[in-house]
Amino acid sequence: MQKIIDKIKNKKRITPNEALALYDLPLLELGELAGAIREEKYGRKSYFNINRHINPTNICKDICKFCAYSANRKNPNPYTLKIEEIVEIAKRAYEKGAKEVHIVSAHNPEAGLEWYMNSFKKVKEAIPDIHVKALTAAEINFLSQEYNLSIDEVLDMMIEHGVDSMPGGGAEIFAHEIRDKICKGKVSSKKWLEIHQKWHERGKESNATMLFGHIENRSHRIDHMNRLRELQDKTNGFNAFIPLVYQRENNYLRVDNFLTANEILKTYAISRIFLDNIPHIKAYWATSTINLALIAQEFGCDDLDGTIQKESIQSAAGAASANGMQVEEFVNLIKNSGFIPVERDSLYNELKVW
Ligand code: SF4
Repeated sequence: MQKIIDKIKNKKRITPNEALALYDLPLLELGELAGAIREEKYGRKSYFNINRHINPTNICKDICKFCAYSANRKNPNPYTLKIEEIVEIAKRAYEKGAKEVHIVSAHNPEAGLEWYMNSFKKVKEAIPDIHVKALTAAEINFLSQEYNLSIDEVLDMMIEHGVDSMPGGGAEIFAHEIRDKICKGKVSSKKWLEIHQKWHERGKESNATMLFGHIENRSHRIDHMNRLRELQDKTNGFNAFIPLVYQRENNYLRVDNFLTANEILKTYAISRIFLDNIPHIKAYWATSTINLALIAQEFGCDDLDGTIQKESIQSAAGAASANGMQVEEFVNLIKNSGFIPVERDSLYNELKVW
């Protein structure tokens, strides 16, 4: 173990096996190593943005077992917003200070390609200043299959219709044996990575997520991070890694053992150490809880996502993010936890130190 610690302190890249071994370190020791990296990069700054999540439809042709959002027997309330409604939501959010709309939804075969693409275009036409972060690699794969288009054609269409960056969703866990059990039929890991690579090759940035705390083990998490690190070495297009804590309610995935806070914090810390080429590690408070996200700042995380305003996907599965959070409350929580709240834009340019 000492050899691994020395490597980390000397800023040498650690191997996947060494990352796995780090889980055996006591939590606070691991936190100290990850915290030192975070401190050197950003001091006591903690980033957040003022954003609005919009989830325009919950009708989905896929059936991911962990999903509580799509309309199904457990959640029989299908909806699809009209484009005018999406634009109206974005306008109201902008008036309240949002700099970004984060538009992701289900794989709705009835909505039509134009509905997806024109919603971005109309938002951008109405609010040219707003950053449109939209379409996960899973949605892009769905649109390409459904409408017989190549991935390149969908990506080019997104850019033409005003999408600025891609969110990191749909990655779940890359290991085939787990992916097959939790989201069989969804975009494959290889395709997910290929889509992000193509997006980065267009000079665009994206996030990367990892859904953990369900039926995967520690090795699957490290394998996931390793595939991201390898792609990032080639493209340098990921601006943040977001480990998403699995939410347990209203879905069809049977999970007997839920993660402890200890395991969540260790995973955040290891990701900070292992992903030496991804600038930001985000503790997405909607899935970790706000209190754990605040503690995660001491374990390598430098970003707490944003105020969200409204969120339907994680909250359907039990997360406390349905109505987001007020900026003042968010800022005060960061300050009271001993960090400096820094409002950022979607590409991590600093806008305001609060
Ligand atoms: S996670 Fe996404 S793709 Fe899977 S069922 Fe839910 S909405 Fe559909």
